[in-house]
Amino acid sequence: MISEHEALQRVLAAMKPMERQTMSLSEALDAFAGRDLIASVPIPGFEQSSMDGYALRAAEASLESLPVIGEQPAGRDLGLVCEPGSCIRIFTGAPLPAGADAVIMQEDVRREGGTIRCLDSVEKGENVRRAGADVCAGQIVLRRGERLTPARLGLLASQGLVEVEVTRKPKVAVLSTGDELIAPGSGPLAAGQIYNSNATMLAGLLRRLGIIEITTEHCADDLQATTTCLERLTATHDAVILSGGVSVGDHDQVKPALKCLGIEPELWRVKVKPGKPFLFAKSSRAFVFGLPGNPVSSFVTFLLFVRPAMLRLMGACEAEIEPLMLQVPLAEPMSNDGDRPHYIRGRLVKGRFESSGMQQSHALHALARADALLRLEAGETITAGACGTVWRLD
Ligand code: AMP
Ligand code: MG
Repeated sequence: MISEHEALQRVLAAMKPMERQTMSLSEALDAFAGRDLIASVPIPGFEQSSMDGYALRAAEASLESLPVIGEQPAGRDLGLVCEPGSCIRIFTGAPLPAGADAVIMQEDVRREGGTIRCLDSVEKGENVRRAGADVCAGQIVLRRGERLTPARLGLLASQGLVEVEVTRKPKVAVLSTGDELIAPGSGPLAAGQIYNSNATMLAGLLRRLGIIEITTEHCADDLQATTTCLERLTATHDAVILSGGVSVGDHDQVKPALKCLGIEPELWRVKVKPGKPFLFAKSSRAFVFGLPGNPVSSFVTFLLFVRPAMLRLMGACEAEIEPLMLQVPLAEPMSNDGDRPHYIRGRLVKGRFESSGMQQSHALHALARADALLRLEAGETITAGACGTVWRLD
């Protein structure tokens, strides 16, 4: 059995970012930038007011009264000039008239017919946005491997762009194995049956990463069926995520099916709890991840190995792949008597980590209530109030 760290290194070593493609901004959410992006437009593009008020010379705010000699709205530059001893009515986002060096907020002014009296002083440059203060033309505004979040897409739109070069997202199949599984919605359970919950959960985890093309299929614990299904899915997808059937039971057909297809697993069985039977293999086109069938094991091994692998394929930089790990005090003592690191499901309540319920690997309710996982090293004990390493789930 190999360590969690070594398993991750081996999985990641096999992943290279997929090819790049140009995508419209409206489709590019959660893709990763395929190259650095350089601004061609400064933001703000011109010197402008950040308030509704009056453009003036700051030094003249102390004068008894200033005549209002014009009005400059946002949207078009009227080319007004603020003559000495005067002011111009101005609105947020409107270009600052020549001669003016500040804007006084309308709340700080008493308007008396065609003149104003300033009730407060104003500094030179106050309420004025300088051209290029946020972004200069020529500056790198997005780096290769950064995720296209809504704010970053907005930034690209502010540059006048409609498209962006991204790394292609993988096409992924989720193959649930198990004679006991029936699809939710397909009728009541017969004795011994369970509803397939992993397919929905794993598809959701993939969607969270930004993956869109997801196929879900089910196959029985039958060597022929598993082999046929795997052969077809590995030929038509970039990654196949299997759930169940990777243990050592007589009905676990994933390893025999891979063997039939001439695929040798790159790794099988990892020192981690839950998730020991995790398997990783490569076919000529697709990466194959065999996750244990127990829902919590499936979830944890997805986070530990599939998530970073998918992000690497999607061209994510290291910082985007690093999980958000925090040092958090425990609300109750916790210990790991086993010889594998254990991921405990729990919640952050008032800044402290507490268990969210049953810790067995089938206990989906406690996982569903969890917003964090505590990593306990083999043999580790942490007392209440002392800090543990916590993976914040999103
Ligand atoms: P396996 O890894 O196939 O030995 O399955 C381990 C446990 O997980 C068994 O109790 C299965 O019934 C359960 N299981 C397997 N696949 C799923 C699934 N898709 N949804 C929910 N539970 C599952
Ligand atoms: Mg099974």
